[in-house]
Amino acid sequence: MALMQGKKCLIMGVANHRSIAWGIARALHREGAELAFTYQNDRLKGNVEKLVAELEGHENMPLLPCDVTIEGQLEALFDELGKRWGKLDVLVHSMAYARTEDLTGRFIDITADGYKLAHEISAWSLIGAAKYAKPLMEAAGGGSIITMTYMASERVVERYNVMATAKAALECNVRYLAAELGPSNIRVNGISAGPIRTLAASAVKGLSDIRDLMEEKAPLRRNVTQDEVGDVGLFLASDLSRCVTGEIIHADNGFNIVGVTL
Ligand code: NAD
Repeated sequence: MALMQGKKCLIMGVANHRSIAWGIARALHREGAELAFTYQNDRLKGNVEKLVAELEGHENMPLLPCDVTIEGQLEALFDELGKRWGKLDVLVHSMAYARTEDLTGRFIDITADGYKLAHEISAWSLIGAAKYAKPLMEAAGGGSIITMTYMASERVVERYNVMATAKAALECNVRYLAAELGPSNIRVNGISAGPIRTLAASAVKGLSDIRDLMEEKAPLRRNVTQDEVGDVGLFLASDLSRCVTGEIIHADNGFNIVGVTL
């Protein structure tokens, strides 16, 4: 039997065909999952619609709006999903945002507003989504929540600035949520992915330099692909990882273990 047969999975964070969320969605779909998608706004709705139309069985896949900064949208999303599905097995949270100036400027110049915005969208939204997903996952007898992070939370990566602090908060949220939701058999994990060319990543200047460095220095001497990260997402979504919670798994060809290499 396929790994995800009978599992209902909500994917948040598809913007286009390069999105990491799309890579995870494809892996889950390959293993028989039933999928629902969110889109951030009307501008991105068409993109998500077109992509979803490529999937077999797309006629039955709910496509729902959710901008996490708009009061009430998270709650409305899970209400609607509850009506349609009555339960939820997997939540993929793959969303982040920061103003350009808070990434490319000096760290010391980050404003309170920029800090709040980046943290609200990129870190708090996991807590908000988990709160409304919980009853639906309890109705399924448990569930798996997966979020996306980056190594800049652990080490200084130039030009990551405010997003690094948001990712540190997000990883902390993973641990606290895992502790609190564990008794309901809900697991919460993060994937710390190597750099992939996506819309969000284009806001971080110098991404191609970091990708060159990965090829040169990562133990596996290559960059990660959207499909590879998708498969790690599949592992965390499936029962294969049933004893794993509160973890941040590095999907980066080992780059994070490297100290000094000559
Ligand atoms: P992406 O641009 O394809 O996805 C980012 C998503 O965030 C988009 O779908 C966007 O609509 C959504 N989003 C932004 N603001 C939102 C809001 N207010 N409400 C709802 N959704 C909102 O880029 P991606 O690289 O696939 O990013 C997905 C996740 O992966 C992010 O958390 C990112 O930080 C993380 N990540 C990316 C890389 C990389 O190199 N691409 C590496 C590690 C981690």
